[in-house]
Parts: sequence; structure tokens; C-alpha cells
Amino acid sequence: MRRNKRTEGVVVRSRPVGDQDRAVVILSREGLLEATAYGAQRPSSRLGAAAQVGSRAVFYLYVNPVKGHVKVSDVDRVEVLDAGGLEGLAVFQLWADLVVATHGAGHEAEVYRLLLEGRDALRRAGGVEEVERVLLGWLLRFLGLLGVAPEWDRCARCGRGLGEEGAWWGSVEEGLLCRGCAGGREGAWWLSGAMRGVCAGFAEGRLGLGVRVRMEEGVRRGLVRVVLERGEEAVGRRLASAGLVREVLGVSGGGG
Ligand SMILES: [Zn+2]
Repeated sequence: MRRNKRTEGVVVRSRPVGDQDRAVVILSREGLLEATAYGAQRPSSRLGAAAQVGSRAVFYLYVNPVKGHVKVSDVDRVEVLDAGGLEGLAVFQLWADLVVATHGAGHEAEVYRLLLEGRDALRRAGGVEEVERVLLGWLLRFLGLLGVAPEWDRCARCGRGLGEEGAWWGSVEEGLLCRGCAGGREGAWWLSGAMRGVCAGFAEGRLGLGVRVRMEEGVRRGLVRVVLERGEEAVGRRLASAGLVREVLGVSGGGG
């Protein structure tokens, strides 16, 4: 094992240790890495800004060959997350939690690229509407990387093409169900044909995260609710950060 390494990455978790240091989790294209940033809580520390969730930097690391501990020995090219507002910060925190909860989903390089793309799109987003679009696109792409995004154009049970019809997305396990297979269910997890179209565009990468997609407010907010719910389902638990996102965006929890 090399004792010194240099890696470019983004901090996805950061917690204080004692009153001086921070334990961080860094996502790079090789995956997640835990390290200690000694002194990062001190106001004069060079590591302080880099050790915050959302910060992107080049990290110089020292791997203790005996204990296996990793220490952040220096940082360079630090860019803190400047997401413009509480909405953007909450959204990034949710993404970071999802990445940690899934250990990068076995697609570390892709997840890293997606996180950087989302981070840039959040920094450029002007206002809540755009933050919601970026959140939506990111979560749909992430579900795709996890392998739990449904096929958007056919019923998962009977295989029938959905055309312009609406469909039911009650769980990641069931996938999308046509009206017949959904047994007449309606409500929060019912996606209109227009909603499915938006989902497919994002999930297949035809729509970039920063792109201004024409979406009615009801469609956009309905999708945000559904996709937040499916994201939590994919990691198997409720996330405090998802609750915060719902709160700051003013979308209530799922239902069905
Ligand atoms: Zn069906």
C-alpha cells in the first residue's frame, strides 16, 4: 500500500471528532474513502473549508501502514459548495447521504461524475424551481445507476406498451404498472404520460441536469414527491435529509 496518495474528490460526510478534528468521507472516482482531517475545526486550519460536506478539492492523504488510518495531510484547489441557498444545500446533503448509504452503488466512477454534474447544476440553479428540476434529474439518473429505475414505456407486469397513458409507480420493486395491472389505484404515485416522458428523458440522459425543461408546476412537484419516496425506498430507510428537502421545498411526504 502506498503511504502517500493524492486524490481528487468531494466530501460527502463530515462530522466533528472532539473539538479539533473532523472525520470525513470523500467520494472520488475510485469510490468512498474515510479519513481524518486533524485540526479541521480550528479557525486557522487549512483543512477547514475542504472538510465540509460538498467541498471539492485535491486531497493529499497519508495512509498509516500499521493501523490503516487515513489522514488528510494537505489540500489544494478547494472549492466549497456554493449552492446559493438552503434548498441547494439540503438537496446536496440528500445526494451525499444516498451515495454513502449505497456505497457508491458499485458504479463509483459514474456516481462520482453524476455528483459533480449535480453539484455544478446546483451552483448554477437560480431559484427553487430549478433546484427541483436538478434534484429530479439527479435522482432519476441515480436510481438508474442503482438498477432500480423502471422501464418508462411499458408495464412491468403485463409488458404492454404504455403509449401516452399514465401509470402507477408504487414501488421500485413493482416498477411501473399500467391501469389494468395497477387495479384501479390512483393517487400520489400515479404518473401521467407527461410525467413519464420527463422521467425517461432524465433517466436516459437525454436531458442534462442543468437544462430548463418545460414542466408544469404540478407535474414537477408531483414528480419530486414520488422520486424522493422511491429514492428512500431504494436505500431501505427514511433519511433525515430527505425530510429536510421536503420541508424546504414545501412538498409533503408520499402517499398512495
Ligand atoms: Zn400491465
